Formats: sequence, structure tokens, C-alpha cells
Amino acid sequence: LNGQRMDANVVVLGTDNVGKSALIVRFLTRRFIGEYGDIESLYTHNVVVDGREQTLNIWDAPYSQDLSSESLMYEKRVQWADGFVLVYSVCDRASFNAVSRLIQIIKTNKDILGVEKMPIVIVGNKRDLDHRRTVLSEEGSILALSADCQFYEVSAAENYHSVLMVFHGLVHRIRESRVSV
Ligand code: GDP
Ligand code: MG
Repeated sequence: LNGQRMDANVVVLGTDNVGKSALIVRFLTRRFIGEYGDIESLYTHNVVVDGREQTLNIWDAPYSQDLSSESLMYEKRVQWADGFVLVYSVCDRASFNAVSRLIQIIKTNKDILGVEKMPIVIVGNKRDLDHRRTVLSEEGSILALSADCQFYEVSAAENYHSVLMVFHGLVHRIRESRVSV
């Protein structure tokens, strides 16, 4: 339509073990397998959101501890992406802190590249492990508000619907950003 590219590139980021692969596989297959390799993967998946078909390219990206020296890597990711899913575990404070840093890095690279809008969804995963929770729901909401991101708490293990909301929510935001630029 009007020569506009209709597929959407989504990068899923977060520290190791937060459930990035579980989240993606749940979305793609509706299933929770439990164990996932550490293989970097790119998936293509068609979904219908608001009655319109959408092709998503989803990148299960590896995390780099060394955020500063890897800036070129993040620049390339921002260049490729139409939106980000930033995942932490509600039982892992360090993974939540990493999401804050990733937001900053994405915003910096977005400005460098002159990208107008970059939709970001923040995901607090493993909400089923409430007895081991160290990050409050409210902390996720506040971070999302302050950074103008969407926020969902989910359980890739126990709730398919919550995972669906994440990706559909992001598709909404990506479509909005394309209309308004
Ligand atoms: P990644 O390194 O971020 O890709 O994390 P994985 O998807 O490999 O998941 C790491 C571990 O957390 C695995 O043992 C998963 O089974 C587990 N896991 C992922 N999501 C959930 C969840 O929502 N609840 C629980 N209890 N465990 C989860
Ligand atoms: Mg993984």
C-alpha cells in the first residue's frame, strides 16, 4: 500500500534466562516447552491484528554485557527494528536494571539515526513465580510511563493470552507510528 513495507521487524532483548525464547516460542506455537537453546534465531510469523494480516520478523537476539563497546551492534539493531520487546524476570532485579539501560541505548541510537518513533514494549516475565518476586509490578509501570513504553506482566509458562497481548500491543504501536510519521 503506497509502497509502504507491510512487514514489521521486532527485536526481543533482555539478559540471559529471563524467558525471551520461551516468550517467542509460546507466541509462535502456543506451547511452553521448558528448555530452550541459546541459539540466536530469526522467525517469520503471520498474525491477524484488528482484522488485518501482519507479517512479523522476530529476532531472538543475544544479550551483550558490554553495552558501550557494542554500540555499533545496537545501532544496527535499531536500524533494522520497527519495534522492541524488552524482557526482564520479576524474580531478577539485575534483569530489570538491564531493561532501563537498554531503553537508554535504544533512545540514543534512535536519535543518532534520526529515527522518528521506536515503539518499545517492556515485559516482566515469570509472574507465576510470585513467591520469588523481587521486582514489583509498580516498578515496571513507572519505568514504562517514564520512558513512554507499553508494559505487560506475563507468564510465558502459564498464560498464552498475556503473551499474545505483548505482540499484538506492539503491532498496534508500530502501525500507529507508521501512520503518524
Ligand atoms: P532466555 O535466555 O531469555 O531466552 O530464557 P529462556 O526462554 O531460555 O528461559 C530461561 C528459563 O526460564 C527456562 O528454564 C524456562 O523454562 C524458564 N521460564 C521462561 N519463562 C518462564 C515463566 O514464565 N515462568 C517460569 N516459571 N519459568 C519460565
Ligand atoms: Mg534464549
